[in-house]
Amino acid sequence: MTDPRRKLPQVDRLVGELDHLGLPRPVVVDAVRRVVDAQRRRARRTKQVPSEDELIAVCRDELIRTHRSVLRPVITATGVLLHTYLGRAPLSHGAFDAVATVARGYSNLEFDLTGGRRGDRFVHVEPMLAALTGAEAALVVNNNAAAVLLVCAALASGKEVVISRGELIEIGGSFRIPDVLAQSGALLREVGTTNRTHVRDYERAVSENTAFILKVHPSNYRVVGFTASPSTEALGKLGVPVVYDIGSGLFGRTIADEPTIDGALAAGASLVCFSGDKLFGGPQAGIVVGRADLVAALRTHPLLRALRPDKMQLAALGATVESYLRDAGDIPVARMLDAGSGEIAGRARKVIRGIDDASLVDGESMTGGGSVPGEGIATTLIAIPDAKLAERLRDGDPPIIVRVEKGRVLIDLRTVDPRDDKIVASALANR
Ligand SMILES: *Cc1c(COP(=O)(O)O)cnc(C)c1O
Repeated sequence: MTDPRRKLPQVDRLVGELDHLGLPRPVVVDAVRRVVDAQRRRARRTKQVPSEDELIAVCRDELIRTHRSVLRPVITATGVLLHTYLGRAPLSHGAFDAVATVARGYSNLEFDLTGGRRGDRFVHVEPMLAALTGAEAALVVNNNAAAVLLVCAALASGKEVVISRGELIEIGGSFRIPDVLAQSGALLREVGTTNRTHVRDYERAVSENTAFILKVHPSNYRVVGFTASPSTEALGKLGVPVVYDIGSGLFGRTIADEPTIDGALAAGASLVCFSGDKLFGGPQAGIVVGRADLVAALRTHPLLRALRPDKMQLAALGATVESYLRDAGDIPVARMLDAGSGEIAGRARKVIRGIDDASLVDGESMTGGGSVPGEGIATTLIAIPDAKLAERLRDGDPPIIVRVEKGRVLIDLRTVDPRDDKIVASALANR
């Protein structure tokens, strides 16, 4: 049984049986080898040899899981606008086209077409970001975690960053403000308490060793009750730069007390950092806007080479910023935020036509993705009293992701592209 020559014909035969799944042959061979080896080890222990049919079934399960794990589109009908698991913000058509156009061939990514010589990848989007936000300067990196790391490394290595104990937060598991600070070489100077920090706490901590005050929006949770934290304006008067990580990049609109790019800059933040793919509605990116002298220090730091954005991010972000400079009308996240409950109800009524057990109920959509915690947007949900349906919808092509609550499936069309309504309708009708 341990003779390797005896394994091969069996593997070949199994691979033949699984060819119809359409996966590349080396992937099938690899999965079959692993399953056969594992079964062989087990057989040695239990003295029971699985039948070929059993082996094929185990391999098929494994390969179906592999097939499902290939990156592909899903329809998100949960009503959560931004979910890191589901790829955060969908891109506008303009952004999508820009990516396709730039990615297909060569580009002037780092080529100066005027002088015919080496150029700079940081000139395509940054001037538009500055024009949009009114900031002196801007810089784009790979994501917001990279932006915060770079700011700390470039401006505060060996110096102190003053931060409230209420803002030493963790976002999405691996991004913890104290850890990022430690990696950057900056020294953490904690002030205040978890629930209350005052201007005088910051004032006492600021010294000639202070690089800047870091203000971090606690994106994914909310401290309620006996709380206090000073305004950006008040911190701006303490004589050191204020760096504000606002997280989601909300711009030009108000949602509860979610900080905005424009608001943070107007309040006097020296630098504002945010993600490109949260409420800003663009691709994954980390964006820093603010004082030109500080941005210049980021530009020359060696870490920037490791954190720089690629041409597809820049293409998508450029198109997204251009949309904002016009009217932001084609940014999906903006459209989803603006859709009224009545509009969603109208679409929902069409989707459930002819489906006996479906009904419409009032509910709430969530912005998600670490923004506006605890604030819902009124919406209309499709309710179907069949919790098993969630799994079947997830197994469809394209997969449809829904909410399950109290034994019911809840579908919120706010996060569904209206052109996909008919896919949802037919998945429900044919369940
Ligand atoms: C989401 C978030 C980050 C991390 O941003 P990424 O773009 O995911 O790297 C950092 N800070 C705040 C406040 C956030 O909300």
